[in-house]
Amino acid sequence: MSKALIIGAGGVASVVVAKCCQNSEVFSEIMIASRTKAKCDALKEKWQDKTKTVISTAAVNADNVPELVALIKEYKPDIVMNIALPYQDLHIMDACLECKVDYLDTANYEPEDTAKFEYSWQWAYRERFEKAGITAILGCGFDPGVTGVFSAYAQKHEFDEINYIDILDCNGGDHGYPFATNFNPEINIREVSAKGSYIEDGKWVETEPMEIKRVYNFKGVGEKDMYLLHHEELESLALNIKGIKRIRFFMTFGQSYLTHLKCLENVGMTSIEPIMYEGKEIIPLQFLKAVLPDPASLGPRTVGKTNIGCIFRGKKDGKDKNYYLYNICDHQECYKEVGSQAISYTTGVPAMIGAMMVLKGEWKKPGVYNVEEMNPDPFMTALNEWGLPWEEDRNPVLVD
Ligand code: NDP
Repeated sequence: MSKALIIGAGGVASVVVAKCCQNSEVFSEIMIASRTKAKCDALKEKWQDKTKTVISTAAVNADNVPELVALIKEYKPDIVMNIALPYQDLHIMDACLECKVDYLDTANYEPEDTAKFEYSWQWAYRERFEKAGITAILGCGFDPGVTGVFSAYAQKHEFDEINYIDILDCNGGDHGYPFATNFNPEINIREVSAKGSYIEDGKWVETEPMEIKRVYNFKGVGEKDMYLLHHEELESLALNIKGIKRIRFFMTFGQSYLTHLKCLENVGMTSIEPIMYEGKEIIPLQFLKAVLPDPASLGPRTVGKTNIGCIFRGKKDGKDKNYYLYNICDHQECYKEVGSQAISYTTGVPAMIGAMMVLKGEWKKPGVYNVEEMNPDPFMTALNEWGLPWEEDRNPVLVD
């Protein structure tokens, strides 16, 4: 019997709300609070007659710490979940510290004016969270999130040491638009237009955007082109998993997506540098977001599957070992269940599970943690129970 404050009411938050409502024994009360209250009210309207969870809503600007503190003090949640944007992470962590309440998010902090994300800003809160006796769980979506839980599970049960991790994120879904993003367009385009990087022998190796391409045959999806990207969990996994020599992240993109992105980049539409337009300062990427389809609206039209997982290579009992853990998720099945496409679903389900882990005491430890620092076992069980069953392959095709 717990109360959760869910901040944000977009594509991922709508899945978090749906899953909390399916899990009323743990989430007996939730509040949905976001910038646009009408979106929170619409979510409440959608679920309130189908659940025992008591739902309330509020308007909040999560960049305004006093406003957040007032809301938290009034509602008195057991956990605050940041399902808004990474820009809000530090403000919400500040408010949680002031109110001594646990915190969880799905993406690490990045400053709005620099397309750069790393954990240093949030790790700097460790001591203050420890002293306050509260828990912060960072990056509890799918990637980061489940990829970290998979890594902790592989380390605990399958390997003596893991030397290589390749995280493969394949979206075989088709929404029928010439160009759209599956989660917040601004955050997505900042991520994929940045330089690529991976960690080898303890050092970052940088690549040009989309410089490294591989082709992989994904179970449930088929053969896809995938490209090496910089991704936040590389930083924490390289520290937290024993024996890592190299860790890389690949994501699939179709040729049409890449051609559109290149064109938008070439004409300056993906820039985050402010420009003057008819006497008003605008940021081209934010304007682009306004004209692109809302990811939350892609649910009914997206068909196909995602396959996201990690290939591990390392040693067990002195012998070389390879092991692949992954989940296959069907866009239309997600839509039937909660009204969202699989990218929102694969992010929202782990966020609900992570919050449940903290609320049930399984992951309750004062400080700031990445998911792989916690016991993976109850989370792995919950993935199977709550809609993201995992599969394993003990003889996977490796990525060169
Ligand atoms: P959306 O753009 O659909 O939703 C974002 C929501 O946050 C909107 O409701 C928006 O309000 C609200 N919001 C934005 N700024 C503020 C603010 N200052 N105060 C209060 N509310 C605010 O994004 P998604 O749902 O697609 O993504 C949500 C998060 O999930 C992102 O951080 C994204 O990076 C992360 N993510 C993580 C993944 C993972 O696997 N780990 C994968 C995919 C996404 P409004 O409606 O007014 O705009």
